[in-house]
Amino acid sequence: MQKTRLKEMINSIDYAAAGNQMYQLVSDLYPICRSITGNGVRKTLNKIKPIIPLEVNEVPTGTKVFDWNVPQEWNIQDAWVKNSKGEKIIDFKKSNLHVLNYSAPIRKKVTLNELKGHLYTLPDHPDWIPYRTSYYQKNWGFCISHNQFAELKDESYDVFMDSSLEDGALTFGEFHLKGASSDEVLISTHICHPSLCNDNLSGMVLSVFLGKYLSQVTLKYSYRFLFIPGTIGSITWLSLNEKKASRIKHGLVVACVGDSGNFTYKKTRQGNAEIDKVVGHALQNSQKGFDIIDFFPYGYDERQYCSPGFDLPVGCLMRTPHNEYPEYHTSADNLEFVNPENLSTSLALYLDVFNILEENKKYMNQNPMCEPQLGRRGLYQHIGGHADSKKIQLALLWTLNLSDGRHTLLDISERSGLDFSLILEAADILVEKDLLKEHQIQN
Ligand SMILES: [Zn+2]
Repeated sequence: MQKTRLKEMINSIDYAAAGNQMYQLVSDLYPICRSITGNGVRKTLNKIKPIIPLEVNEVPTGTKVFDWNVPQEWNIQDAWVKNSKGEKIIDFKKSNLHVLNYSAPIRKKVTLNELKGHLYTLPDHPDWIPYRTSYYQKNWGFCISHNQFAELKDESYDVFMDSSLEDGALTFGEFHLKGASSDEVLISTHICHPSLCNDNLSGMVLSVFLGKYLSQVTLKYSYRFLFIPGTIGSITWLSLNEKKASRIKHGLVVACVGDSGNFTYKKTRQGNAEIDKVVGHALQNSQKGFDIIDFFPYGYDERQYCSPGFDLPVGCLMRTPHNEYPEYHTSADNLEFVNPENLSTSLALYLDVFNILEENKKYMNQNPMCEPQLGRRGLYQHIGGHADSKKIQLALLWTLNLSDGRHTLLDISERSGLDFSLILEAADILVEKDLLKEHQIQN
C-alpha cells in the first residue's frame, strides 16, 4: 500500500487526542529520576520503545569524546536526612529533586552548619525546590524549599545518600527513519532531567510523537532522532559519528514545548539556512505571536551541533526559552505547568515545519515560452472550483513563472506573499497537467 504524503496526514490528525496522549506520556515519565547516565535514562527509553522502535546505545565510562570523557555512571536508590528525633525531614522518595543530581554516596551525622553547606534553596520562591546538579565535581547535597530551610533547628542530623558512582555507561536512544534520500533531518532532545515537565519531558515526548507520525508517511529526507543527555550526549554522538554528521542538512533541538508562552526560534549559527527560512515561514503562518532570535553559544545541544568544526544547520524551536520563566529548573515545572493543548499546538507547528521541508522542491516549467493556455488544459475548472479562486490563479501563475530550476516553492511563496500551502497546491496541479517537472539537482 502506498503511504500518504505528510501534507495529507497533517490534516487528518486529531490534535486534541494527540495532545492528551502526549500529556499522558509526560505523566508516565514524570516520576522517573533521570540524570546524564544511569537506570533512569534506560527506564525512560524503555517506555518510549513501544511507541517508536529506537535503538538504545551504551558508551562505556572513560570513552574519550573530543575534549571530554564519558563520566562514571550514577544511580540512586534512596536518600534522606533525619533530625535528632529520627524523623525524615528530607525524603528522595517524596521528590527526586531533593537530591543534588550526581551526589556521591554518604552516610554520616552532621551538625546544622555542616548540613547547610550542602543544602540548596530558592529564596525568591520559598515554596519551590530547586533542581541542581554536580556532574563533574564530586559532591553531595540536598535541595529543599527555602521555607523549610528557614525552620531547621540547631541539632544533629543523620544524612543518608544511597547512590553509586561507578564505571558503567552513558546511555542514549537513536531512531533512524529512512527516507528516499540519505540526506538527514536531525531532531535532538535531551533526556537527562528528573521530575521536570517543560524542561524537558515536553521535548522528549514531542520528539516521540514526531517519530510516530513521520513513520506513517512517505519521506523525502531521512530523519535521525536523538534522545541524549544534554551536552555530554551530543558531544558523544558527534564524536562517534563524525563522518555521518555531514549528512545532516537540517536540524532542530526540541525543548520547552509544553508551556503556554509564545514560540521562540533560535536560529542556526549560519543564520540563513533553509531550516531558518522554513521555521520563520511556519511561525508566520501559525498566526500566533512568536520571536526569532539569533544564535548564541549557550543553551541546549545546538551549541555542540553549531560548534565551528561541525557548523551544522541546527536551530532550536521552543516556546518560552529556558531561564526566561521562573519555574525553570524548579519543582514548579510540574504537571500543571504544561498541558495537552500546548503540546498539541507545538506538534502542529513542528509537523508544519517538516511538511514545508519535505515539499520545498525546485521545479522546471515545461512550457516556459510565454504562458501556457490554462483553459485548454482544464485549469480554469480548478480555479473556478477553489474556495479562493483569485488566490489560486495567482499561485498558479507565480509557480509557473518562478519555476526555472532556481527558486524553491518557499522562495515562490515568499516572493508572491502567498501561503506555502497554496503554492504547493498550485505546484501539485501543474505537475498533474505536465506543466511542471521536479528539477533534479545533480550532486
Ligand atoms: Zn535544563
